[in-house]
Amino acid sequence: MSIAICPGSFDPITLGHLNIVRRTSRIFDQVIVLIAVNAGKTKPMFTIEERVDMVRRACERYPNVIVDSSDILLAEYAKRYENPVLVKGLRAASDFEYEFQMDLVNKHINPKLETMYLTASGKYTFLSSSVVREMAAYGADLTGLVPIELKAEIEEKAKTWRK
Ligand code: ADP
Repeated sequence: MSIAICPGSFDPITLGHLNIVRRTSRIFDQVIVLIAVNAGKTKPMFTIEERVDMVRRACERYPNVIVDSSDILLAEYAKRYENPVLVKGLRAASDFEYEFQMDLVNKHINPKLETMYLTASGKYTFLSSSVVREMAAYGADLTGLVPIELKAEIEEKAKTWRK
């Protein structure tokens, strides 16, 4: 069985993330969307539990997608599965620099671990969780940026969230 892991912070999940998950689910038998507890990131908008719940709801329509969270190194987490492949989205050349470095680090820890990249869909190349947080904080309408069923709660959370 082919297994893909789509890792990220998903704070919150955007339509750009969902586009990558959907395309990955067509290529692999099983997809694990992994919400990573990122020690470096401060002041998240949503807790890990909230993010897991939101990603689960957004991915319900894809039967071969499951959601998990982890606070250990990604390359260590991947050892739980037989030959998993990390699948990540590439938005711009700037993403490439960072991803190339991450791949080298992951291979240092887990030499068998491969990463594949899907280029971002044109309409989502500008979209990131930080763009969504920023727009939500200013009370902007998030239609077309986040899954429709999560829009209201993200807009609501933004009212009390301060960066
Ligand atoms: P963000 O950069 O939005 O904070 P994450 O750290 O959660 O996102 O990223 C998780 C993965 O999703 C990464 O591989 C990232 O490149 C990818 N990704 C994020 N936004 C997009 C997008 N708009 N299009 C394609 N891939 C994306």
